[in-house]
Amino acid sequence: MTSFLEPQAVDGQSNLAATVRELDRELSVASPAEVIAAALRSVGREHLAVVSSFGTESAALLKVMADVDPAIPVVFLDTGWLFEETLAYRDTLIAQLGLRDVRSIRPREETLSKEDPDRDLWFNDPDACCRIRKVEPLARALAPFRAWVNGRKRFQGGARAAIPVVEEDGARMKFNPFANVTREEIEAIYALAKLPPHPLVASGFASVGCMPCTSRTAANEDSRAGRWRGRGKTECGIHTMKIS
Ligand code: SF4
Repeated sequence: MTSFLEPQAVDGQSNLAATVRELDRELSVASPAEVIAAALRSVGREHLAVVSSFGTESAALLKVMADVDPAIPVVFLDTGWLFEETLAYRDTLIAQLGLRDVRSIRPREETLSKEDPDRDLWFNDPDACCRIRKVEPLARALAPFRAWVNGRKRFQGGARAAIPVVEEDGARMKFNPFANVTREEIEAIYALAKLPPHPLVASGFASVGCMPCTSRTAANEDSRAGRWRGRGKTECGIHTMKIS
């Protein structure tokens, strides 16, 4: 892998689509570390962010990122509904991996007071709740960046089954370095680096998001089956709405 695009190639919106197509083609079989390194070379550290939920599989992406550059900014959406265990896990991984720039982003207080004063929006309108607690805060957090990295995998199925390695996301590039990886490869990263599991895995949570919208999964269920169970919702919106 030697021909990844240089930073000047992504200057200007008109070049974005062509740059994304070329990077996606070049990185189609690249390793996660190669994808992150290419993202870094394409836009520079000051314009690149990793977005992490510090969930059950997040440590693998954060470990690969830390091996490439532990000072890449990491955006963490603290929705106000997270498990205490997730907040503790964030702090554990910051210390263990030496992450140097983790930014915990909260929803605006005035928005919460106006749109969710009784903290029941998650029940009455979960899409609106995700919008004010995740999508809008992420848009704010990503404003200084020209590209972002996330940990979605094709094996997670649903809308994720066909994600490319590099895609357009409004005015930004979005890198999916784990698009091609298998569950076994993620487990191998955890084992090799002796990464601690999320504290809730041991009590039956295969995927962890906000408290009211997360339930345990049975052994024969898809790992994300416990998210928004029974609500006909599978994504919070940060990957399905354009972040402007
Ligand atoms: S996952 Fe649930 S609690 Fe969290 S922002 Fe979305 S609807 Fe609200």
